[in-house]
Amino acid sequence: MSSRAPRHVVVVGAGVVGLSCAWHLRRRGVEVTVLDRSTVGAGASWGNAGYLTPAMAVPLPEPALLREGLRGLADPDSPLAVAPRPGRDTLAFMAGFARNATTARWRRSLDALTPLASRALAAFDDLVAGGVPVDLREAPVRIGFRPGEDDAGLRHELDAVRAAGQPVRYSPGPAGTPFSDRITTVLELHGQRFVDPGQVLHALADAVRAGGGRIVEGAPVRSVGFGPGGLRVETWSGPPHSADAVVLATGAWLSELARDLGVRVPVVAGRGYSCTVGLREPLETPVYLPGVRVAVTPYRDGARLAGTMEIAGRDAPFRERRLAAVVRSVAPLLTAVDPASVHDPWVGPRPLTPDGLPLLGRTLLPGVHVAGGHGMWGLTLGPVTGALLAEQIVTGVDRPELAPFDPLRRRRPAPPPTDRATVTA
Ligand SMILES: Cc1cc2nc3c(=O)[nH]c(=O)nc-3n(C[C@H](O)[C@H](O)[C@H](O)COP(=O)(O)OP(=O)(O)OC[C@H]3O[C@@H](n4cnc5c(N)ncnc54)[C@H](O)[C@@H]3O)c2cc1C
Repeated sequence: MSSRAPRHVVVVGAGVVGLSCAWHLRRRGVEVTVLDRSTVGAGASWGNAGYLTPAMAVPLPEPALLREGLRGLADPDSPLAVAPRPGRDTLAFMAGFARNATTARWRRSLDALTPLASRALAAFDDLVAGGVPVDLREAPVRIGFRPGEDDAGLRHELDAVRAAGQPVRYSPGPAGTPFSDRITTVLELHGQRFVDPGQVLHALADAVRAGGGRIVEGAPVRSVGFGPGGLRVETWSGPPHSADAVVLATGAWLSELARDLGVRVPVVAGRGYSCTVGLREPLETPVYLPGVRVAVTPYRDGARLAGTMEIAGRDAPFRERRLAAVVRSVAPLLTAVDPASVHDPWVGPRPLTPDGLPLLGRTLLPGVHVAGGHGMWGLTLGPVTGALLAEQIVTGVDRPELAPFDPLRRRRPAPPPTDRATVTA
């Protein structure tokens, strides 16, 4: 630790990103307090699909998704939907998303994400080597297409990820179980992993506590500012906490606290739904169905179905209809799942930014950092984020690979996009 390193850091948010930051800070000898307004894993980190798939961690804004989103506006059961009467942040997000949904910007953002994604699986291995008992499972992701659904777009995308620097391997896979005969083309994406996200969160939280860190649940933070002798974190529920540094890792709620600290990039909630279903046949590997945008993952003694993207309020009520649409879309495509045995219904907010890049680094208030906005891939990228943020906080060194994720980037002029080969994703 350098002599300028903080002695005590408050991390706000006990999702995978906040807990990863906390664990890495403890590992570097820093005293840590994690505050969550609710409980460990109360946000997006709990009921997600559990894919650890850096090869799929590409920027969200791209031309095909923009077209699909616009078509879906008219269909309430579409995998992509925007809630009626969008607020100011949502409108700013949609305008920014449309600006960024070009092939050139997608390429530039992919280049930015690649150093992070390339280290993602090793960062999970580091957790395990450091004594966090995460149950990592290795298996190819099997991706199934119906007739008329073009696998060329996904292959182009994976080729672009490989060209950007990740070791991506995919091959044609066999049709048949767990797919029904409606799936006629299968790709297998190798070298990826999956987990039970709840198990990861508990393992991380237990390790933070066992290492001497504190986790305070039911502590909603209302503001961060200067106080006597350092930073002061005020909560709605109890006494303030003082700290030498603060990490805001509040997922889709990030803008609520970070906006006043100069972070103008809006973070909105891309709400996804999941549930557990029983199995009629064993399911050994994760399955992805791009045509309906649903991920299916072996989960305990069943499977987790996860899908839909609903741009809506972070805390909007659960909508039964959207989960039903997920289950209905999968039922004819997979023989392995039993759509009649739905349990553990869940909704969680993916923290989305308009340029598809996370926000990692310093705010205008010295000592206050943000870590969030990983969108579709915060579970995969959480541990590597924690490692990089802890390093920045403790050493004061800004690694060049963090530069594209500067939380203050909307305050600085963006470099012009370079136009290279086109991608049809
Ligand atoms: C359906 C679905 C499927 C997904 N599948 C995958 C996948 O397979 N692989 C993958 O890599 N990613 C996946 N994701 C994305 C991933 O879940 C998220 O990117 C990730 O969980 C974000 O983690 P986080 O820690 O930033 O935020 P969160 O997990 O949302 O945590 C934020 C925490 O901050 C707390 N908080 C908020 N405001 C305050 C406050 N004022 N004071 C104190 N605490 C506060 C909240 O209670 C919450 O616990 C999926 C997401 C969804 C919705």
